[in-house]
Amino acid sequence: MQTIFSGIQPSGTLTLGNYLGALQQFVELQDEYDCYFCIVDEHAITVPQDRLALRKNIKSLAALYLASGIDSNKVTLFVQSEVSEHTQLAWILQSINYVGELERMTQYKDKSKGQEAVSSALLTYPTLMAADILLYNTNVVPVGDDQKQHLELTRNLAQRFNHRFNDIFTIPEIRIPKVGARIMSLQEPTKKMSKSDTNQKGFISMLDEPKQIERKIKSAVTDSEGIVKFDKENKPGVSNLLTIYSVCTGESIESLEQKYAGKGYGDFKQGVADAVISVLKPIQDRYEDLIDSEELDLILDKGAEKASFTAGKTLKKAKKAVGLGRVR
Ligand code: ATP
Ligand code: MG
Repeated sequence: MQTIFSGIQPSGTLTLGNYLGALQQFVELQDEYDCYFCIVDEHAITVPQDRLALRKNIKSLAALYLASGIDSNKVTLFVQSEVSEHTQLAWILQSINYVGELERMTQYKDKSKGQEAVSSALLTYPTLMAADILLYNTNVVPVGDDQKQHLELTRNLAQRFNHRFNDIFTIPEIRIPKVGARIMSLQEPTKKMSKSDTNQKGFISMLDEPKQIERKIKSAVTDSEGIVKFDKENKPGVSNLLTIYSVCTGESIESLEQKYAGKGYGDFKQGVADAVISVLKPIQDRYEDLIDSEELDLILDKGAEKASFTAGKTLKKAKKAVGLGRVR
């Protein structure tokens, strides 16, 4: 069986973008692959986090994985900082990762733009991500479109390591959904939807109340043309809503365009809101049952133990290949 690894940061409450770009495909993949799903809290601290909010978001993210349909009997669900091999391998990989290649990463450029002080961890974020993936001999990494560049770097680092030291890392493939790989902000539809966006109206949180979802979609930025048509260049707002509508209902974009031909944006936005609510409401109901359960902690304990076992074996090989420590 092939192995999958993917992570999500507990840097806020998950958005509809995280669900459609990542979580939804995880659920489909769990039957066919040996899956490692990680709550990457060490990635989250590359930008400032409130201590208590971070703690809360870690548990909340775990509950959302499960509420979305992830089965803890099939996958390994764990918290990154509870498996110390991640940062240890990241350090080794930093020794073969060039500052120039890290500075070229668009996520680094976006997240450091306009900041007074930028942590060095924000720069080496992709190296830690490479370690996350390579520790589990991962074959496939299902992520949204924004992670393409980081995945390419992971592959380069694995190849560089294998070539320079010893052939120990599997070279992972990226898997991006056909539709929904890049859900855009509702307020600035040329920018991706992000859970750490300071403008709450730009994203739909997976835990937003139905009324809130409706309000946010109704105030989503569109255009003055009044025609429901997919045209990413000229109509980014409407195109984003069409994408959301299509992924939430399974209806094709063409058939949605036909359905709303001659109708205004009011009707269309109501349709989008109803579609989103019908996807998120059942997840929210399951979330309520899980969030304070003891079961959640037991699942994460078991996950960390299982992940450590695999990660430990890979780290040992990597240290040996590089010449760290003593041979006994
Ligand atoms: P942050 O703003 O803190 O970076 P984020 O919303 O970008 O948060 P991440 O934890 O960085 O979320 O990413 C988790 C997963 O969600 C990744 O697989 C990423 O590719 C995917 N993802 C993030 N944003 C979107 C989006 N707008 N559309 C589709 N997939 C997305
Ligand atoms: Mg992100």
